[in-house]
Amino acid sequence: MNGPLTCSANNCVHYANNLCSANKIHISGLNASITPDTHCSTFQEKNLENSLNSLSNININGEIKQFFSNSGIAMYPEIECDAKACKFNNSGTCSSNSINIIGNDAMNSNSTYCNTFCK
Ligand code: SF4
Ligand code: SF4
Repeated sequence: MNGPLTCSANNCVHYANNLCSANKIHISGLNASITPDTHCSTFQEKNLENSLNSLSNININGEIKQFFSNSGIAMYPEIECDAKACKFNNSGTCSSNSINIIGNDAMNSNSTYCNTFCK
């Protein structure tokens, strides 16, 4: 099961007030042994072209739930993850109860990482 996700990648087209509006994200890091080796490969820089491209990966149900939520995180993506060394990786899905992606001012996916990665 995937849990609520927070993200600081403010330049990502899916970023929404420290949350992620994507329906599904992919974390890379097949051979990751430390946190910075993991990256959110779904990151796309905010611009018009990427905004149009992102339309096929919008979490509409999550956005509606988040709109009506007074507190808490109701919108978060499904996660596919390659980082097999992470203790939360369960056959390519994430079993953590909450996930934090870091990417302050990142301009590409290589500058993002999963802060919840743990061996
Ligand atoms: S970097 Fe990844 S988790 Fe963060 S908003 Fe973008 S797609 Fe979502
Ligand atoms: S916590 Fe681990 S399994 Fe979950 S997304 Fe991050 S690196 Fe992948």
